[in-house]
Amino acid sequence: RQPGKRDILTGLNEEQVRAVTTVAGPVLIVAGPGSGKTRVLTHRVGYLIEAGYASPWHILAVTFTNKAAREMRTRLEALIGLEQAQRLTVGTFHATCARILRRDGGRIGIDPRFTIYDDADQLEAVRQALKALGLDPKQFSPRSILSRISAAKSQFQSPQQFAEQVQSYWDEVVSRVYPRYEEILRRNQALDFEDLLTETLRLFHEHPDVLARYQDWYRYVLVDEYQDTNRVQYLLVRSISGAHRNLCVVGDPDQSIYGWRQADIRNILDFKRDYPDATEIHLELNYRSTRSIVEAADAVIRANRLRIERRLRTENPRGEPIRLRECYDEGHEAQFVASEIRRLTLRGDLRYRDIAVMYRTNAQSRPLEEALIRADIPYQLIGGLRFYERKEIKDALALLRVIANPNDSVSLQRVLANTPLGAGIGDRTWQELERWAALTRQPVARGIAALAGQSDVAPPQISGRPARLLAEAWGTLQQLWEASERLLPSELFDLALERSGLAQLYHDAGDPEQIERWENLLQLRSVLASYDSVGDGALRAFLEESALVTDADTLDDASDQVTLITLHAAKGLEFPVVFLTGVEEGLLPHARSLESEAQLEEERRLFYVGMTRARQRLYITYTFRRARFGAADLSVRSRFVDDIPVHLIDRGDGPARPDTSPARPVDRRTTPSDGASSPPLAVGMRVFHARFGDGVVAEVRPVQSDQEVVVDFKRHGRKTLLASLANLTVD
Ligand code: ATP
Ligand code: MG
Repeated sequence: RQPGKRDILTGLNEEQVRAVTTVAGPVLIVAGPGSGKTRVLTHRVGYLIEAGYASPWHILAVTFTNKAAREMRTRLEALIGLEQAQRLTVGTFHATCARILRRDGGRIGIDPRFTIYDDADQLEAVRQALKALGLDPKQFSPRSILSRISAAKSQFQSPQQFAEQVQSYWDEVVSRVYPRYEEILRRNQALDFEDLLTETLRLFHEHPDVLARYQDWYRYVLVDEYQDTNRVQYLLVRSISGAHRNLCVVGDPDQSIYGWRQADIRNILDFKRDYPDATEIHLELNYRSTRSIVEAADAVIRANRLRIERRLRTENPRGEPIRLRECYDEGHEAQFVASEIRRLTLRGDLRYRDIAVMYRTNAQSRPLEEALIRADIPYQLIGGLRFYERKEIKDALALLRVIANPNDSVSLQRVLANTPLGAGIGDRTWQELERWAALTRQPVARGIAALAGQSDVAPPQISGRPARLLAEAWGTLQQLWEASERLLPSELFDLALERSGLAQLYHDAGDPEQIERWENLLQLRSVLASYDSVGDGALRAFLEESALVTDADTLDDASDQVTLITLHAAKGLEFPVVFLTGVEEGLLPHARSLESEAQLEEERRLFYVGMTRARQRLYITYTFRRARFGAADLSVRSRFVDDIPVHLIDRGDGPARPDTSPARPVDRRTTPSDGASSPPLAVGMRVFHARFGDGVVAEVRPVQSDQEVVVDFKRHGRKTLLASLANLTVD
């Protein structure tokens, strides 16, 4: 049975019906979360077809993600039937432009068989460009360079224009890589994501006849999540809908969260200026969430100053209060989340797939993943790699594995290929090492030792610079082996990161993505620190545990799973139960955003997006202390929580006590004896440490029943030590 026009309008409120049936001319739908914007857009497409305004191929619907595009198409299959739905153009900006360029790109010299370079390909191209310039990719992060190039491209800056406005040494490096990168793409007949958009615009600009054809083709254009479109996307929309002007955009300025990706919130605020005759429709009612959640979210967003005053309301029942919980630390927080999930699902009315756990940065997923694995709760991680699959984590683990076992050739290769320790050691050298290893049936490590003059076997045929570099790397590894016999796991980790150059690579890079990688490494460090009390074999115990977690990670792919997701990736989604974790100053708002009012407001919008994903139950958790930047810091609850009216909140039984904190995989250090062994330490004291020598205390922090001491050592730099274990002698 083909559903008719009536069916398409049933289940919509009055304003929604108006939004669906106002088909001619520009339409701007501005409305809060959960008010049915996406639903309206979907039904509008159905209506255009069923009411005879347009054939499916005359409609272009643009979504923010491929997932959203699939969902919209599935809904439409139910509304208008499979056959009609298949003829629609529903997709992201990138997918749509790729189609256009395959068809007509020839007019501007683009081979229709062009390859699309995804993120990994783009990074590889940057790496090649760096090498061609004689620059070391281990020294200049390809990731940072790429994001700079992408930003330039999305602002139509040619390599030449970029070079003309260079202001820093870093920009100077980028300005040299950028033209090379473009050359590599051209040589490989490849387009990156930015090219898809900008080349389509160029096509339209240079060939008005092509543009006219698309304008005639796509008579109705619809755009979801309009608040997060950037300049180029805006221009594309304006071009394609230029002739018929049947453009319908829906968005919510309060949910604009991609400012860092050049999304331009002005696109929605200026829509009325660009289209003075636009019909503006507001949807008032939230259908998604309980009244408690809607009221709380509304109170939070109203604290933003750069916004249009607007109320969010609902007719839904009040529902449960918002559950606010202080946890002892991130391990306890994860444990709390896992046990709540257990409790909720055991009662039978909720399934794993109804639940989402959200956080600000990818690094925060690690403790959550571990707690879920231990509690045997299946989960899927969205918008980021699983913790132990991340590159920087794999590299650091490989390094630790080599330290634990020099003959682990796979790890050794990973270390030499991916860390600055192996800078300048090329594939050819590695091939020779492998040939040597196969021939002599010796571990590769021994061959390197021979090159370094540390073994009497006949060395591989490597000479000159590569041989010297290998010998140097070997010397560093040797220091680490020696150190591993004396150092605590966390100390060894610090030393290994420093000597291998990984610390400098990530810590000093200064761009957000590298800092995030650094934060991930610090997360790993805090796992290692929990093995500091194990004694002999601690490193091995850690490596075994981490290998198990890694394996368990890849097992589940049944569909009933809890969703672990960053706030950014959660946009547009909804779940019956949402946990917002790590709602603390420095995380949300993120430390990077504290400088400007505009950025702070974007962080608040991010929190708002998170809150409004929840349909029935919303949990907000924060910790008393959190391992951050390698050491445990006292946390401060996010200022955003203060704006939630107290009568909507249930605080539970007050802050959890440390003694309710969960057992660790390996028991923590035994409580230090209070007295003789650890002298009272204070900032400024001169101390002596058996391994690190002379130093001065820079900081003392209480941790549980112990002290964490930060010492600036004369020869070894800054170290964070546990007072009870460090055996410091006070001068
Ligand atoms: P967001 O801003 O988060 O993207 P949205 O405005 O796009 O939200 P939708 O996802 O379209 O909102 O709708 C939110 C929920 O409300 C969905 O589950 C949708 O099915 C439901 N909904 C929307 N309108 C109605 C209605 N008139 N009657 C019943 N349910 C509705
Ligand atoms: Mg939506």
